Amino acid sequence: MTQTATISADTLVPTFESLDEIGEALTRRGSALYGGEAVTQLAHALQCATLAEDAGCSQALITAALLHDLGHMAGQGDDEQSAHSELGARLLARVFGRNVTEPVRLHVNAKRYLCAVDSTYWGTLSEASKQSLVWQGGPYAADQAKRFISQPHADDAVRLRQWDDAAKVSGLATRSLAHFIEIARGVQVKHTRTE
Ligand code: FE
Repeated sequence: MTQTATISADTLVPTFESLDEIGEALTRRGSALYGGEAVTQLAHALQCATLAEDAGCSQALITAALLHDLGHMAGQGDDEQSAHSELGARLLARVFGRNVTEPVRLHVNAKRYLCAVDSTYWGTLSEASKQSLVWQGGPYAADQAKRFISQPHADDAVRLRQWDDAAKVSGLATRSLAHFIEIARGVQVKHTRTE
């Protein structure tokens, strides 16, 4: 990971330079438990990507599902805020386009959206996820929900969120990390300039 790459004009954050670095990070850091859940970060990522693939979605969204919590795994996301989704999107920005980074960036706020538009959704969340919802700002008001879903890729973020919520099952069989890295390889963006 490069510690000095400039992602936006005024913010210095670490970023991944290649898919190989991302795969290494998943392998190296994925053994940590996923928040207050019964699965590891890597198991959660693989379950989420498997659910996305089984749903027949795009390769970009499968990749976003695999990598949506990279901000947690990078060890610099604030678990108590939506910052891990912002960080995750920035970490991925040199390797993937917005079809991957935006669902990642929006997946926390998609929970706030779903709470606003589906009265049964909150009751389906795990205790850890209900708790983090409070820290993340709680359910959106109707006007906030409308603004959220009008953003590009917000619909993909909502789909990702639902797989995210379901991908917390201890011992569930998934496809392999190598399988999903190959899918991601077909989605990655080739940068021809450095900043
Ligand atoms: Fe997640």
